[in-house]
Amino acid sequence: MSDGIDGEAIYKCSNCGAKHFLHADDFEFEVQSSDERQMGAETQYVAEIHACCHNCKEAIELEFEVWEYPAGIINCTNESANNAEITDSHFSIEHLPNPDDGVVEVAKLIKPLLQFRFDKFSEQFVDFWITQYRKNARTTTISSAISLVLASAAIGLGIYTSQEKLGQQLPRAQDFNEQYVLLKTTQQNLNDLEHFISSKKNEMEATQNLLGDLEEQRAAIEPIVQANQELVDAMFAQHRRDNENYVLRERLIGVALGVLASLIASVIWHFIGRFRRKRGV
Ligand SMILES: [Zn+2]
Repeated sequence: MSDGIDGEAIYKCSNCGAKHFLHADDFEFEVQSSDERQMGAETQYVAEIHACCHNCKEAIELEFEVWEYPAGIINCTNESANNAEITDSHFSIEHLPNPDDGVVEVAKLIKPLLQFRFDKFSEQFVDFWITQYRKNARTTTISSAISLVLASAAIGLGIYTSQEKLGQQLPRAQDFNEQYVLLKTTQQNLNDLEHFISSKKNEMEATQNLLGDLEEQRAAIEPIVQANQELVDAMFAQHRRDNENYVLRERLIGVALGVLASLIASVIWHFIGRFRRKRGV
């Protein structure tokens, strides 16, 4: 069994021929019977309408029968009228909005927006709007119109506010003299910076050249130093040898002089001894 039956119908007064229209709100379908069949329940709905012709005030009675089987499908319909002729009728299964469905639909709608997939969002928004419109045309139209007005107002307010802010900033930022002085100072600073960089560059180049010259001089001197190294070593060795010979000679002379001095002393001592004995001391 579904949520109910929606119906629309057109009928004509048998007395005066005036045409009447019935809308969904005019029907009050009630379950008349329900039987369990092979594919589930078969439900019989009946709506009775008692009306007066709006033209001749003739009393009119209408009866509509709808069979739903299987669930969600209208299997067949039947209608009967007193003092009227039903010229057209249409029935559909009513789906009351499920609050969970709404949440799911809104979530489905927001997801592409969060993923920045605006084409997907647009497509789903259109589907959503059409679904809502089919469910309830009047409410959807009114709420869409209100949303449109509110969105336009919000956008307009946003533009107005940003323009106001821009307008407040302009007189300060656009002061010509200040801008000119600022640009002049910036240019001066940039020139100074350029000079500084240029002078540093020259200094670095001079240092580089000096290092290059020193390297060249070192390269020129290196063979000379290496060639004369042996000579210098030989000179030092000869000097050392001379020094050693001199010390040896000094020592030999010292020893010889010592021996000579002892000899002289011994000779003198004997002379003195002989001289004393001769005098009979
Ligand atoms: Zn009538």
